[in-house]
Amino acid sequence: MNQNMLPNCTDRAEFNAMLRRHVEQSVNTGSSLGVMVVDINRFRKINWAFGYKAGDAVLLAVARVLTQVARKRDLIARIGDNQFAMILPGLMNVGHAVLAASKLMRLLGVPIQVEHHTIRIVATVGIAVCPDHGNHGDMLLLAAEKALHRARDSRSPYSVAVSEREQRNIQDTDIEFGLQSAVASGEMELFYQPKVHMRKMVPVGAEALVRWNSPVRGRIQPDDFIPIAEKCGLMMNITQWAINTALRESHEWTWRWGKFNVAVNLSPRVLYDPNLVDMVRGSLAIWEANADALILEVTESSAMANPETVFGVFRQIKEMGARISLDDFGTGYSSLAHFREIPANELKLDKTFVKNMVDSPADRHIAKLVIDLAHSFDLNVVAEGVEDVATYKLLARLGCDCAQGFFIGKPMPHRTFCAWLKAFDGLTASGPRLTREVA
Ligand code: C2E
Ligand code: MG
Ligand code: MG
Repeated sequence: MNQNMLPNCTDRAEFNAMLRRHVEQSVNTGSSLGVMVVDINRFRKINWAFGYKAGDAVLLAVARVLTQVARKRDLIARIGDNQFAMILPGLMNVGHAVLAASKLMRLLGVPIQVEHHTIRIVATVGIAVCPDHGNHGDMLLLAAEKALHRARDSRSPYSVAVSEREQRNIQDTDIEFGLQSAVASGEMELFYQPKVHMRKMVPVGAEALVRWNSPVRGRIQPDDFIPIAEKCGLMMNITQWAINTALRESHEWTWRWGKFNVAVNLSPRVLYDPNLVDMVRGSLAIWEANADALILEVTESSAMANPETVFGVFRQIKEMGARISLDDFGTGYSSLAHFREIPANELKLDKTFVKNMVDSPADRHIAKLVIDLAHSFDLNVVAEGVEDVATYKLLARLGCDCAQGFFIGKPMPHRTFCAWLKAFDGLTASGPRLTREVA
């Protein structure tokens, strides 16, 4: 149907220009502005079933109803075959846009008569408000369209856009609920990333990295759920599961390469849990594991946040024979006075320095400094994030002991890691030489 035949309706191009102008004005004056996108449900079916004349009558009816709903300053447009939109400048709050949507629904509820057909018009509405859901025209229209899709998915007549902050809160709550039962439901999995001895060029251990296979969201990386698990007190439970799983699964690893260790990460709050030391001792006993094959990784920043308490925990862990590694070293502002006292066995050079060290003399200096500092305190050094042979060679030249990174192997599921270890046959310029394909 031709645009001109619809009362008070502009087209999409004009609408976009007007929207941009209104949003600018609204941002400048600090006033609110609403956008409503109205989608006529089953419009194509109406055309097919009753003919184009009926379709045109429906469009006309919706345009008329929108005119009834609109205030003087509001602007109506047809922005798609079966889509209308309305700009509502000077909105008091989002509730007013919702009222407009409700009125629209009520007025559309009266069926229209086209020849001998009675047609009931059903529409779905998406609402977005400036500045809450966007502060320029395209962004606001997109937010309203997303709200419309959400309304349609949940079979609601209308839906209001959610701001980024609200969206994050919803996601966090969602993750929090899912996490409550994730360990008990067997949804957690450990991936293992190999570490190699740089001089001997053989695997000497692996870092266990947790993954959450959520039935709702698929595989989730630790950075996306560990901060939430920390906040809601679930990290001790996850850590206990991780230590037990790592000790059980590492039992199966080949001893072809001699002594082999497994490293598990500890998050900051877990360090203050009074049950941590007993929990580690209990797990070592259950799996009859050699304590010195277990490394606990603690970031430099969480170790140095409260050295008196944390060093005490480290000492107890070391007394039972397990080892402590300072993770992400170089990013945590250690004071040398504390460093002198730290009861650790290993230091992991953070990947931010490793990544650019071939091209950046400054990062190279830092790497050298950290390696020499660690050695003068009898600490083993592991470089993390080694992605290519040039970085590997440079680190070896600087005297780094071990390397971990995509150049050697990405984190892999337990079964794949077992196969990787069996197939490993040395390290070449293009990565590990494997005797057979590893999935
Ligand atoms: P992290 O302990 O520093 O682990 C190293 C991270 O670097 C891993 O990310 C690993 O996949 C990634 N990585 C390894 N090699 C390379 C490389 O060559 N290039 C790049 N760009 N990245 C590399 P992932 O698995 O996503 O883990 C992220 C962080 O989550 C870990 O950092 C650790 O702090 C935390 N995390 C993982 N598993 C656990 C856990 O079981 N408990 C706790 N508390 N934290 C965990
Ligand atoms: Mg780590
Ligand atoms: Mg790290």
